[in-house]
Amino acid sequence: MADLVLASSNAGKVREFQALLGAAWRVRPQAEFAIRPVAETGATFLANALLKARHAARLTNLPALADDSGLEVDALGGAPGIRSARYAGAEADDAANNARLLGALAGVPDPLRTARYRCALVWLRGPGDESPLIAEGVWEGRILPAPRGRGGFGYDPLFLDPATGLAAAELDALAKNACSHRGQALAQLQALLASGGGPS
Ligand code: IMP
Repeated sequence: MADLVLASSNAGKVREFQALLGAAWRVRPQAEFAIRPVAETGATFLANALLKARHAARLTNLPALADDSGLEVDALGGAPGIRSARYAGAEADDAANNARLLGALAGVPDPLRTARYRCALVWLRGPGDESPLIAEGVWEGRILPAPRGRGGFGYDPLFLDPATGLAAAELDALAKNACSHRGQALAQLQALLASGGGPS
């Protein structure tokens, strides 16, 4: 078993990535190494995932995995985008972010409320890796006029999955993973690892 540092300390993500990677890797959250999160100064999800992975690999000398994700709304020129977590302010919670999103879209008719979740994943084999494995997932949907459902997190009560007609917060975890941006990126990463990116 080889160690891997995850550039996140979110317990849900640690579990999710450990399950994906199986027994070949021990996923260790960066907090285990007392690593503080790096400033996310990139202009894209991918740039931020790269920043996070490089930071964690450099400080641990281990392979590193990082993800970055968020919501893009067409009627808002792609906002909240990379600012999704702090759309309503630095300390904003999900409720405040959702309230700001609904306010920003007030009066915008359904057909123009198109949006997508994006997720970028970066796998660095070590601090000097100049050609990391990169996987990206996109989930197309629409922003609802009012929240629905109790599952998921973040913008899920407002994100309509057109394929099922359900809000993301109305899907159970398995159903959400099957279509979500993160689920797609994880599947891509798994395929890349299976074709030669794993521990030697
Ligand atoms: P991070 O990638 O964990 O930094 O997530 C960034 C932000 O994007 C989150 O705080 C949420 O606001 C939003 N986000 C990312 N993925 C999802 C999702 O699957 N559902 C709802 N919100 C999400």
